Amino acid sequence: SVKKGSVDDLPKDKLLSGLLAPGFDEGSCLSRYQSVLFRKPSPYKPSRYLLSKLRNYEALHKRCGPHTKSYNETLKQLKSGHNIDSTDCKYIVWISFSGLGNRIISIASVFLYALLTDRVLLVDRGKDMDSLFCEPFPETSWLLPLDFPIIDQFNRFDRESSHCYGKLLNDSITNATTISLPSYLYIHIVHDYDHFDKLFFCDEYQALLGRVPWLIIRTDNYIVPSLFLIQAFGHELGKLFPEKGAIFHHLGRYLFHPTNPVWGLITRYYQAYLARADERIGIQVRVFDTRPGPFQYVIDQILGCAHRFKLLPEIDVHGSGVTLSAKPKVKSVLMTSLTAGYYENLRNIYWEYPTVTGDMISFYQPSHEEYQQTEQKLHEEKAFAEMYLLSLTDVLVTSPWSTFGYVAQGLGGLRPWILYKPENDTAPDPPCVQSMSIEPCFHAPPFYDCKAKKGIDTGTLVPHVRHCEDMSWGLKVV
Ligand code: GDP
Repeated sequence: SVKKGSVDDLPKDKLLSGLLAPGFDEGSCLSRYQSVLFRKPSPYKPSRYLLSKLRNYEALHKRCGPHTKSYNETLKQLKSGHNIDSTDCKYIVWISFSGLGNRIISIASVFLYALLTDRVLLVDRGKDMDSLFCEPFPETSWLLPLDFPIIDQFNRFDRESSHCYGKLLNDSITNATTISLPSYLYIHIVHDYDHFDKLFFCDEYQALLGRVPWLIIRTDNYIVPSLFLIQAFGHELGKLFPEKGAIFHHLGRYLFHPTNPVWGLITRYYQAYLARADERIGIQVRVFDTRPGPFQYVIDQILGCAHRFKLLPEIDVHGSGVTLSAKPKVKSVLMTSLTAGYYENLRNIYWEYPTVTGDMISFYQPSHEEYQQTEQKLHEEKAFAEMYLLSLTDVLVTSPWSTFGYVAQGLGGLRPWILYKPENDTAPDPPCVQSMSIEPCFHAPPFYDCKAKKGIDTGTLVPHVRHCEDMSWGLKVV
């Protein structure tokens, strides 16, 4: 039965061009089918091939998901410690790790890896994953069961662990023995990962991994750009994403649906403060300077960027102070930051002076949590709500090196103006640049030619994988 006022009444594309599967219980996750009410239609369309891949994945996940017969069988193998070449289902377990933006972009990359390798993605819930995100796959769960046999070892997995793939490769080369594969492998793709861990991105070592039923991965990165450089995946990626620079956009909208409490934070804020504006501008301020702020050079940089690219009107410092236009445009600026100082400064400037255009600029900041509190439930709910709210704006300014901003730009399909990283407490000139694509940046990619076995600049190999605007050694898909 269709209730009046439900999204079924609306002629909109609630399944996002077929990205979402129909048939979920709407009440259990309101955001899944309601997001369409808050977003402009995306200019990026998912390919038919991606849609069929997702439907097949959903069937696979349902067949192999937690506590199914196949899952229980494959678990026996994990417990036995031996690797038998073929199992019905193969898995990749994502370990909950790092800040929320990092977690979101890394899950999306690991999901893509699962699609490419016919594995089932299971997500370690950590302290808060289940309170932030709805289940993305129908009639099953993506959460790793709490009784998973080696779950209590996850905290200790690192580069030195005996099941770490990089360590195994390193040892096998120094010992000159052939590698015998265990029943599970740990993959370490964190900032401190070494040469052997990075061999993950080589074709020949991917082939080996295909024989291991359980992979357990810890990564805080968006590894997709480097997956493009693995030959075995290149062709399939091209078919899945003929329009290359919208991978996270599609996967993110497919996977990350805010739970009802988070959806409440988002929709109440949007309707109370943003919905009525003529234009919405998002400004994400993430300052990695540990001294207490706010810093004048950051304020100068934000205003410099906003004025140069006409994102906000300039102020009239000599104006009479009263420029009444009959119907002033209202531009609402949504700011996000751990502190309130930048918001207070900008809001005051536009209160104290008129704009040269006569437009009215209002400023809003949902929270100022003061410091990062990873895996603290309400803190992370607010963080997710703010990333999502930023994604609902029309124009976005983001901070360099920040995955928080990447999530907003990706979900929103917005090519942000990225602030350049300041040096020596001064605003850089130019202050910002518009991003080449809406994709996140891979902050720690390998620079290795697997065939020639020597270093290479992986940002110059193919036209659609480039160095990032905000981090010169990073890689992004464009
Ligand atoms: P990154 O460190 O900028 O790449 O982004 P992450 O999201 O991975 O980690 C930063 C964490 O700090 C977030 O997950 C939040 O917990 C917190 N945080 C940073 N900036 C903000 C903000 O503007 N608003 C809120 N609510 N939390 C923030």
